[in-house]
Amino acid sequence: MTRQPCRRFVGWSVALLSCMACAATALIWLAGTVASGTESAGGAQSGEVVEYKLLLPHQFKERFDKMPLAYVPVGSLEWHGEHLCLGNDGVKVETLCREAARQGGGIVLPCVFLGIPPMTGWGSKYDLGKSGIFFVEPELLQRILTAELENLDRLGFKGAIVITGHYPQEQVDLVKKVAADFKAAHGMKAAGITDRDLARSVGHTGDHAGKWETSILMALHPELVDLSRLPKEPGQRMEGVFGGDPRTQASAELGRKVVAAMVLELCELGKKLVTR
Ligand SMILES: [Zn+2]
Repeated sequence: MTRQPCRRFVGWSVALLSCMACAATALIWLAGTVASGTESAGGAQSGEVVEYKLLLPHQFKERFDKMPLAYVPVGSLEWHGEHLCLGNDGVKVETLCREAARQGGGIVLPCVFLGIPPMTGWGSKYDLGKSGIFFVEPELLQRILTAELENLDRLGFKGAIVITGHYPQEQVDLVKKVAADFKAAHGMKAAGITDRDLARSVGHTGDHAGKWETSILMALHPELVDLSRLPKEPGQRMEGVFGGDPRTQASAELGRKVVAAMVLELCELGKKLVTR
């Protein structure tokens, strides 16, 4: 009589232990997933869907009701040395916005890959017409961004962050002006910023295809960086690289530190815009 409950107890214990083992395995797997998600900082399409173009209507409405904030990433198609993809500026801010929306809520618009001059020309050996510069007139970009904000306002968004990853002063001034002019006339609050001004707390100052931009892309999209394309000799000039030497100063680890600070600051700004 005493053995029966005892055997049952042993059985339950075994079941409980195996459940706990399963739970532990699941937790380890989850931790690994989260860790790898953090490592790639949401590169690829592995996390929660936050992009306007990819959301189903009911998903859009759920996100919108929780956090009526829109991210408007703006970039360029521009030479960024032999080692970074040509769309670096836009890819960078689009991915940062995606991470911020995943952490703090909000919806990310498709990146506007249109920059205004000045632009860095392609390396001389490519011999592309007009140095391969791809640009639009400032008035056109201003009209496009204003139209986007008008649409977001009409939909009922409470805040919008226009962030440019291409940051000659002319383009920075343009996104700031678009946001400032808009704020004066509409209910939705808009902020115009550049990623160059984020993550100052970790020493980030921005550059062009140098230590900072290379580190950031190494953290966000390592598959779009190839340092082996750069000249090997330390003294040899790298065309279109302005800033710290990416061959010796850039790392994914540094990039992850910058990205984490940037995402946090974006989330804080978004919250301020929506609740103000
Ligand atoms: Zn850039």
